[in-house]
Amino acid sequence: MPKRGCVAASRGPALRRKEAYARNGSALALAGALRCQQCNGQLPQDERNWCPACWASRCKICGWWTTGMRFVARTQFSDGCFALEGWVCPECIPPSASRHDQAALCLAPLFKIWAQGRREDSGFNCWSRNSSAPPQPARVLWWLFVGDLGDVLAPGKLETLGIGAVLSLCPERHAEDLAEILLDTRGVELVSVVAWGDRNFHITEEAWPPARAALAAWRQRGRRVLVNCWRGVNRSCSVVLLWLVVCEGWTFLDAMRAVTLARGTALTNHSFRLQCWRVWRELRLARRPACAWRDIEQQYPDDDIASSDLRWWQSRASSPT
Ligand SMILES: [Zn+2]
Ligand SMILES: [Zn+2]
Repeated sequence: MPKRGCVAASRGPALRRKEAYARNGSALALAGALRCQQCNGQLPQDERNWCPACWASRCKICGWWTTGMRFVARTQFSDGCFALEGWVCPECIPPSASRHDQAALCLAPLFKIWAQGRREDSGFNCWSRNSSAPPQPARVLWWLFVGDLGDVLAPGKLETLGIGAVLSLCPERHAEDLAEILLDTRGVELVSVVAWGDRNFHITEEAWPPARAALAAWRQRGRRVLVNCWRGVNRSCSVVLLWLVVCEGWTFLDAMRAVTLARGTALTNHSFRLQCWRVWRELRLARRPACAWRDIEQQYPDDDIASSDLRWWQSRASSPT
């Protein structure tokens, strides 16, 4: 039984951010980065991401200030996905991540499903959708869809797509007897797996094994499956990404691109991205022990990695760390 709240690599930045808030006394000081979080020196007016006194810079992902950052160049892919450019700390992008994994860990959102910001914070507006987003639930494989709770409850939606089974990762959001109701009225099977969108939740250890078993059983019976959670951003996208990586043999980058293309905004919880990445790393090491990522990178001739590599060296030559 894994212990809650001991994801060391993902918890570190969060704790440090808390300490930084406490030290500065206000969120404004941190957001505006008026002072360096490492040496507490005053920053120049036009500089918010780099301290000329101690040469620390600000992590693009967690906001933590440190030296020893690495630069992730903007990578544009042919399908429209792109990785954000910036300095990242070793806890957000582990040093052993290949360039493709760096790009996957920095992959930016493509579009918004929800009209407001975070669905959890939207109050009465939490059901209003962004009208310009592609129709949902989105198809990732011929039998596998990813969506949110609204896609499950909307009458006729599952039937139109031929979906016969639903894997719900947000049982806290729907009635306990939803499984019976769905089966009796619409002939759709529902399995609930408890998962939390919290950065300290071990999704790969606690939610993935039962989710995988349910998906594998439905796959064998030829059912079309919808994986859903409340927003369709973190829990459901993690499970779909893990299925693609573990059971379909996709690379981590390909799977991240697939869920991002499907949902627009996927895995904003960086702890979940790192947990899935660790699963992929273990698999890759087990399959091809030596220098495997070099072989994998050669499969992407059109991905502009060569020019991003050049930009990386250029940025190293012009930047202080
Ligand atoms: Zn400093
Ligand atoms: Zn970071």
